Amino acid sequence: MTNILIPGGAGYIGSHCIRELQKAGYNCIVYDNFSEGHLKAVQGFEVVEGDLLDTGKLIETIKKYNISGVIHFAAFALVGVSMREPLEYYQNNITGTISLLEAMKQTGVKNIVFSSTCATYGENVSVPITEETLQNPCNPYGESKLAVEWLLECADTAYGIKSVSLRYFNAAGAETDGSIGEDHLLETHLIPLVLREALNVERKMFSTIDFESADSGHGYKNEKKLHVFGVDYPTPDGSCIRDYIHVLDLADAHVRALKYLEENGETTQLNLGTGIGVSVLEIINAAREVTGIDINYNIGDRRPGDPPELVASAEKAKKVLGWVPQRSNIKTIITDAWNWHKANPKGYDDR
Ligand code: UDP
Repeated sequence: MTNILIPGGAGYIGSHCIRELQKAGYNCIVYDNFSEGHLKAVQGFEVVEGDLLDTGKLIETIKKYNISGVIHFAAFALVGVSMREPLEYYQNNITGTISLLEAMKQTGVKNIVFSSTCATYGENVSVPITEETLQNPCNPYGESKLAVEWLLECADTAYGIKSVSLRYFNAAGAETDGSIGEDHLLETHLIPLVLREALNVERKMFSTIDFESADSGHGYKNEKKLHVFGVDYPTPDGSCIRDYIHVLDLADAHVRALKYLEENGETTQLNLGTGIGVSVLEIINAAREVTGIDINYNIGDRRPGDPPELVASAEKAKKVLGWVPQRSNIKTIITDAWNWHKANPKGYDDR
């Protein structure tokens, strides 16, 4: 059995990925400090609690499990927080990866799949975005991810460590049986917020609690009203357009990227998106159809740093990995996410 180290495997994308890897015959060793991850999301998997900055523990774990490859999800990933806490982002995302690469170098592990992001492209991009589009990130989160991409190029030249950097567009959705899904400490993403608003509407219909004025003592997540951040963008309906990709399609791409490296693939960077743009208002309408609930929202101001349109060209991933998204139709994404949120209105409920 091939043992793969999964730093950050207890997080949203990592926890979906380990299940796909297991189906493909890999044995996953999750390495996570549980700052964001959830123990409930990795039940039945081998788990090592540890920090990425702890090079000694990484080396010990790699040796103990005879690790042959790494899929690296461990990172802070909120644009807004990165603007307020750039040192934390640089420290965790860059220094953390240096520590991981040091451990790989010392133990002779040669393959790594890295979670990168479309945030490395920055604001003023024309769509569709190809891997040749100039990378010009506009926040510390995107900068930290781009710095790691550069570091990985150097690690190839200097140490022969081969990598695939996967530049995710907007990850969404959940495992099809609703057993695991998206639960962030601080939720800022559109689809979970839309679905939580749907849950709030549903709860209000069957409850005497005044959710508008009640404080959050009753423990439900995010009772604040949903806001659409700007409807004055140069797009057909005025709201921002994004490329939403099902988390299970992302998981599939990771399995393929690992196999590609095992078959002596060269270091490369790949966009993971569908090539199809969906606006914020279209998401809300699709969610109304899927849930049958009249989801309310207010129109708010633009959110600083939001580009009007981010849509991938996914041609290179198709060519290099043979990867074609299977579940990324927007209604399928929302249906899977809705099943998770409905069954788990308090998320993993482990904080
Ligand atoms: N968005 C919104 N209201 C929210 C959260 C997000 O209108 O409460 C918009 C946001 O401005 C962006 C899109 O939804 O245009 C996707 O945002 P998200 O935070 O999910 O992902 P991002 O594109 O920032 O990575």
